[in-house]
Amino acid sequence: MIIEIKYKKLICDIGKRVYEKGFVAANDGNISVRIGEDEFLITPTNVSKGFLTPDMIIKVDSEGNVIEGDYTPTSEMKMHLLVYRERSDEHAVLHVHPPYATAFATEGIPLDQAIMPESVVSLGTIPLAQYGTPSTDEVPKAVKTHVHNHQGVLLENHGALTWGKNLENAYYLMESLEFTAKINWISRLLKGDRELSKENVAKLIDLKTMMGLEGVSPKGVDVPEGTHAKKVTSVNEQTLSKRDIDLIVDRVTTSVLNALNK
Ligand SMILES: [Zn+2]
Repeated sequence: MIIEIKYKKLICDIGKRVYEKGFVAANDGNISVRIGEDEFLITPTNVSKGFLTPDMIIKVDSEGNVIEGDYTPTSEMKMHLLVYRERSDEHAVLHVHPPYATAFATEGIPLDQAIMPESVVSLGTIPLAQYGTPSTDEVPKAVKTHVHNHQGVLLENHGALTWGKNLENAYYLMESLEFTAKINWISRLLKGDRELSKENVAKLIDLKTMMGLEGVSPKGVDVPEGTHAKKVTSVNEQTLSKRDIDLIVDRVTTSVLNALNK
C-alpha cells in the first residue's frame, strides 16, 4: 500500500512536470507504472496531467479491467499495456505531445539521425510508428513493430511515447527525445547547402528592407508579380551576393532562436 501511494504521487509529480514543460496541453497525455505482475497504475481520461491528485490514479490489470479507482482510465491504455506485455523488463510508460517531436511525427519524419552523442547513448534512434486511430488496436499494433529495439517512438500525426525501467527513466527519455527533435529542427534551419527558392529569396529581400539593411535585388531571380519584393527589385539593380544571403539567413535564424528562448 505504501509503495502504491508512493507511485501514485510520483505519477502526479511527472504529470506536473510534463504539463509545465509544455509537453501537453489541456487534458492531453497519459502516464502508467507497473506495480505488480498483473497490476498497473494509470492516469484517467479528461483530466489535466498538471493537476493530478493521487486519488485520481486508477489501478488496472493487463487486460485493462479496472481493479481500483473512481475515474475512467485513459483511452490510450492499450498502447501502455502493449509495452508491458512485450517488454517484461520495462516498468513505466509515458505518452505526451511535445511540440518539436510532434511536429516531426506530423510530418512523418523519424528521429533516426545520430546527431548528438548524448541522445544516441541514452535514447538511441526514434522510429516512426505508423498512424493509427486513437484508442483502437491500430496504435498498439504500430508500436509493437518497434517496441523491442527502441526506448520510444514517434506516433505518426499524434505525439511521442517512451518506456523505461522506472517512471523517472521514461520521463528523461522523453526529455531527451524532445531535445533531440528541437536540435534536429534547428540544424535543418541552419543547413547552409540548401538552395533557397525564388519565393524565399523574395521574402528575404522584404525582410532585409524591413531590417533597414541596404536594399539589393538578386540577379536572374524572377520575383513573383505583385509582391513587395518586386518593388524592391525595380528600385535596385544590384545583385544579391552569396554573402548577402548568408547575412540575411543569419539574421533571420538569430531572430527565430531568440524568439524560441523567450
Ligand atoms: Zn496523445
